[in-house]
Amino acid sequence: MLKGIAASSGYAQAKVYRLEHPVLEIEKLEANSSEELIKFEDALEKTREDIKNIQAKAVGKLSDEELAIFDAHLEFTNDPGLIDQVVAMINSDSVNAEFALDSVANTFITMFEAMEDDYFRERAADIKDVTYRIKAHIMGVKIADLSLIDEPVVIVAFDLTPSDTAQLDKEFTKGFVTEIGGRTSHSAIMARSLEIPAIVGVTGVLAELENGQEIIMDAIEGEVLVNVTQEQSDKYSKLAADFAEYRQGLKVLKDEKSITIDGHQVEIAGNIGNAEDVDAVLENGGEGVGLYRTEFLYMESKALPTEEEQYEAYKVVLEKMDGEPVVVRTLDIGGDKELDYLVLPEEMNPFLGYRAIRICLDRTDIFRTQLRALIRASVYGQLRIMFPMIATIQEFKDAKAIYQEEFDKLVAEGVAVSDNIEVGMMMEIPAAAVLSDQFAKYADFFSIGTNDLVQYSMAADRMNEKVSYLYQPLNPSLLRLIKMVIDGAHKEGKWAGMCGEMAGDPIASPILLGLGLDEFSMSATSILEARKVIRSLSFAEMQALAEKAINCETMPEVIQLMEDNL
Ligand code: PEP
Ligand code: MG
Repeated sequence: MLKGIAASSGYAQAKVYRLEHPVLEIEKLEANSSEELIKFEDALEKTREDIKNIQAKAVGKLSDEELAIFDAHLEFTNDPGLIDQVVAMINSDSVNAEFALDSVANTFITMFEAMEDDYFRERAADIKDVTYRIKAHIMGVKIADLSLIDEPVVIVAFDLTPSDTAQLDKEFTKGFVTEIGGRTSHSAIMARSLEIPAIVGVTGVLAELENGQEIIMDAIEGEVLVNVTQEQSDKYSKLAADFAEYRQGLKVLKDEKSITIDGHQVEIAGNIGNAEDVDAVLENGGEGVGLYRTEFLYMESKALPTEEEQYEAYKVVLEKMDGEPVVVRTLDIGGDKELDYLVLPEEMNPFLGYRAIRICLDRTDIFRTQLRALIRASVYGQLRIMFPMIATIQEFKDAKAIYQEEFDKLVAEGVAVSDNIEVGMMMEIPAAAVLSDQFAKYADFFSIGTNDLVQYSMAADRMNEKVSYLYQPLNPSLLRLIKMVIDGAHKEGKWAGMCGEMAGDPIASPILLGLGLDEFSMSATSILEARKVIRSLSFAEMQALAEKAINCETMPEVIQLMEDNL
């Protein structure tokens, strides 16, 4: 048995599928030209077959426009501009094929990446994709392809990037297990929204498991069982059935209010990464969207999404939510979220670096496009905009001023806009949290991002399982910070929500309720359980309990207090 952190609950039993993206070490070698030419031709042919296979499998799953990307990839494998140069270099320099291809492709990539036009920047990403595959074939390195999976599997990987996770097919992906990561890494968050069981931070899992091996995932306890016996298999099918039944049982609360027994009502909303996620929020009785992570819109496209593309996406979300509030967070890129087409500087500490609002206040072209799209979409529902990673009042004022300029421009252009857009901010940096009463004069609302607030308060990387013992949302120090944010908002008559994963934790939510949190936003699958908890509690009692919790010394003491009282 291997142990890790249960990141998305559930059970699964299936064969292991190792997802590896090996780094190709390209060396310059002296080689026999005719042999290298054969290898190159052969690799081109295999790549064409791969692309056709992937495309055929994607029919019905992807739009025509998305399918056309594969045509572009195929075309590239026949492009004389590329092939002739590689062949010439192999002949004239007597170098190995992968080196020749790598050199030629890199000139194209550098050239396209430097172009202003989105179309060419997309091409750079395509060339990278296709040449990676050709080089792998030349070198005899096997690369895994998520879209080629056609039987039930558990994906085992060192880490899953958010875009890997976005490509997962729920029909065949029964769960995933990763070597690194924590409960709040973005792949874990996406697993919860896809309702796929996930266990992360399983040290040694890649060394331990082979392709095709049958395993059981217990993503409640965070355990991976290998060498499965019949007895275990029976036991876990029963547990899985019970779990599904429990989830089903919660459905009676779908249309109920999130109200305590003494009549204190809060809002329970869902976190989403794209328009499709709204369905799960609605199915689980979400009263709004408390966090739309728009960076996924950017990560899923091959170039910066245009104003029009963004407008369409925001409009769909607002329409689907049918007048219920939708909190859209402006681009929060950086940290563990990268864009292929927006090359950011290599940094020692990306989570402390150039990210989120820091990028947007610098690249105001990107920021303005997003704000315009949002403001235009505002007429389709109840829009709330928030800025991520605000550290200083000046940053908030600068971001708000740019918003206001775009708003005024659109009005002057005669575009219809809503007159009640709220503009607030994430509270995820301790410096802002302690100054929340001042921020509340300017922001319409706060949404506490505990995933980051905890890592910055404890100086413990949310991705690093070695320091995961410090990841303590229930530490009294964090509870005090959260209280400061809520009190700060209320002092100015503003509301405070939470969209970090802590909001959906059944041990934490009674304390948050007692501290006066107004809105709880979480993975769609946590909504009904959270509502069940809230509906069983007395607000007055939780206020008293929260007061005791912030006066505890340690997180275990807080947990003990909760267990003794609930
Ligand atoms: C957070 O930091 O708590 C948050 C909700 O944002 P993200 O997880 O996307 O960083
Ligand atoms: Mg954050």
